[in-house]
Amino acid sequence: MTNNLAPKTVECKCGHAFETNLHKSWCEKCCSPVFYHAKDQRRHKWSSYYMMTVMATVLLFVTYLFVELIAKPLLSL
Ligand SMILES: [Zn+2]
Repeated sequence: MTNNLAPKTVECKCGHAFETNLHKSWCEKCCSPVFYHAKDQRRHKWSSYYMMTVMATVLLFVTYLFVELIAKPLLSL
């Protein structure tokens, strides 16, 4: 990541607009990442979806393990 971008006004999804010359900067109002290029913003959005899917899968797996290892033996007592 080279930092040779021309200063540009970017707008956060919360509506706060500010000038930046960084690929990625943080909104001062809501602390969410704001990207210089729209495609980076989209990539970030998709990677957030991906992370959420992974988290949901892990959570489901943990729930399954809990049911199989703890709840079932308790119920069969
Ligand atoms: Zn914001």
